[in-house]
Amino acid sequence: MSYVSSVFERIKARNANETEFLQAVEEVFKSLEPVLERHPEYVEANLLERIAEPERQIIFRVPWVDAQGILQVNRGFRIQYNGALGPYKGGLRFHPSVYIGIIKFLGFEQIFKNALTGLPIGSGKGGSDFDPKGKSDAEVMRFCQSFMTELYRHIGPDVDVPAGDIGVGGREIGFLYGQYRRIKGVFENGVLTGKGLSYGGSLARTEATGYGLIYFVDEMLKQNHQTIQGKTIIISGSGNVATYACEKATALGAKVVAMSDSDGYIYDEKGIDLALIKQLKGVERKRIQAYLNTHPDAQYIEGLGNIWSLKCDIALPCATQNDITLEHAKTLVDNGIIAVGEGANMPCTNEAVRYLLEKNIRLAPAKAANAGGVATSALEMIQNSMRYSWTFEEVDSKLKNIMITIHANAAAASKEYGFGYNLVAGANIVGFKKVADAMMAQGDY
Ligand code: GLU
Repeated sequence: MSYVSSVFERIKARNANETEFLQAVEEVFKSLEPVLERHPEYVEANLLERIAEPERQIIFRVPWVDAQGILQVNRGFRIQYNGALGPYKGGLRFHPSVYIGIIKFLGFEQIFKNALTGLPIGSGKGGSDFDPKGKSDAEVMRFCQSFMTELYRHIGPDVDVPAGDIGVGGREIGFLYGQYRRIKGVFENGVLTGKGLSYGGSLARTEATGYGLIYFVDEMLKQNHQTIQGKTIIISGSGNVATYACEKATALGAKVVAMSDSDGYIYDEKGIDLALIKQLKGVERKRIQAYLNTHPDAQYIEGLGNIWSLKCDIALPCATQNDITLEHAKTLVDNGIIAVGEGANMPCTNEAVRYLLEKNIRLAPAKAANAGGVATSALEMIQNSMRYSWTFEEVDSKLKNIMITIHANAAAASKEYGFGYNLVAGANIVGFKKVADAMMAQGDY
């Protein structure tokens, strides 16, 4: 058995019930055989097994009182996965599906993503099985305060810097920071990113993941002498990533005809009215179906999955993991798709990834394509340390350069290791080598 297979077998035995985590590990390991062949020192140092094991996993109780006065208990997580490149860095996800396997898959992906940005950030991830849907602002505040009452002792601007993910946006980061400041008694705003502009947030952070995704996809299309202009696009999701991907794609001349939430999707052949989506989803926190109230000529289709049966040139899964299955991938290919850009983390199953690559569809993998969010978080940390802020244009142009560089590095590594133009393999290799070298240099801990 090869070194890669034997390590994967051990990881499977030890983490048997964590399907998302095993899926993420398997996908990365697949790209690494040629790297390990060329670098026997990584095998000698048992780097694969070390990189797959989190440095530290913290699981804690989060008690809070709901609007009816009933005491609720949720489970909180923070995984400090890999600190070789910098302070642990990565978002918090509040969603009822959260359990250790989800946080571990996200933290594992974050290692390579953060390394790809070229900025000094290690990997961390956290969250809770708390469901913010339908909760009042006061309930969300009490939950966040309780969450931070435990978390504060584990984080810090040079230790671990959380941010948002699904279910955690500007509102939650504000409540979390307020509680951190109250407990610590210091204005240490570099401890969280994705903050509001009034207390140290960065301009363009809100837009960064979605904009970065489009910069990356456009760069990928340019390799084929194409651009995003004039393309028809389907986006799943209607949260932060989906919203700003839609905004940038539209600004570059593409037409986004569908977006979704966890209940169903809207198809508007004239092009999605993004101002309305922002109002409904971002401000009023309503269901996407309400789009029909002012656009009766659009269609609302209940249920998930079917969104990928719509004809389009580019699919941007920006909702959650395992959104595009093998069946969906087949339908997309049959409908003449040219590219898929992963805005969410691990939105395509491994079978879908394999199929799309086989069919020569341009695939922008999440670790590379959605790295603009965390890269801009790192820019927020830099601004916080300087106690200074850059303009929107300055941050946006740094973001664009980072995305173009990630693309170039992933494409070059893929070629160097015999994968041709395969950004999935290339991104895994670049991220892995950067972290592996830093771990080797720091000894065997
Ligand atoms: N949750 C985002 C991600 O998956 C952003 C993390 C951050 O900004 O730290 O990369």
